[in-house]
Amino acid sequence: MLELVNLNKSFGDKQVLRGIDLRVPPGQVVSLIGASGSGKSTLLRCVNYLEQPDPGSAVLIDGMQIGGDDPRHGSARQLRQQRSEIGMVFQHFNLFPNMTALDNVCEGPLAHRRGTRAEIREMALHLLDRVGLAERADHYPSQLSGGQQQRVAIARSLAMKPKLMLFDEVTSALDPELVDEVLKVMRELAQGGMTMICVTHEMAFAEDVGDRVIFMADGRILEDGPPSKVIRNPEHDRTRAFLARAL
Ligand code: ADP
Ligand code: MG
Repeated sequence: MLELVNLNKSFGDKQVLRGIDLRVPPGQVVSLIGASGSGKSTLLRCVNYLEQPDPGSAVLIDGMQIGGDDPRHGSARQLRQQRSEIGMVFQHFNLFPNMTALDNVCEGPLAHRRGTRAEIREMALHLLDRVGLAERADHYPSQLSGGQQQRVAIARSLAMKPKLMLFDEVTSALDPELVDEVLKVMRELAQGGMTMICVTHEMAFAEDVGDRVIFMADGRILEDGPPSKVIRNPEHDRTRAFLARAL
């Protein structure tokens, strides 16, 4: 589903990702953990080319290389198409403030002409129902709690029927009592077979929803394995030190 080959990323002379190799099979749920500054967000952003990886890096979705400096796999149209197959949800729910929840969910499929207006509206209502917000379809973001906004953001991503979902600390900015409603939606998505990479500080979530936990340090994958191994019985002192603070 996703393959990263020798992924490097530098900002100026600062190298942030160092030779990341990673294969994620379909349906796998990966929890990405690590200290602030270790490169987790940059990795996610390189996956959908919000950041351009350094030359020599490769990002493949279903075996197709995305973006890149080689014009053979780099047309703008192709990149847009490939990006539309990857959903991303951020810490700060960036909904369009001037659109209702329903219109936020409809916007992507409408822009990409993924059906008639009526079909898209019906699909969007179904998605809002799935995230528990059928009753809030006509509310504007400012009329929704942070947890509700984040669930709309997830529905909005799903509306593009992504093959892969990327979550970057989507519960970090929420009041504690709103975290669970968002994790519940992510848990259901995982159980439904979605391929997901979740950057998270929620170790309980990483442990019981993730098939696999990756610990990053200094732009490298330091540890990679099942939660029972990485969280409960890590190999490296740095993982242990991180977990001692996080658990
Ligand atoms: P994490 O998500 O693990 O906290 P990030 O991927 O956000 O880490 O950042 C990794 C490093 O890259 C940090 O040192 C950060 O300052 C740097 N960085 C991230 N984005 C940029 C950017 N656009 N320009 C310069 N440095 C950046
Ligand atoms: Mg980050």
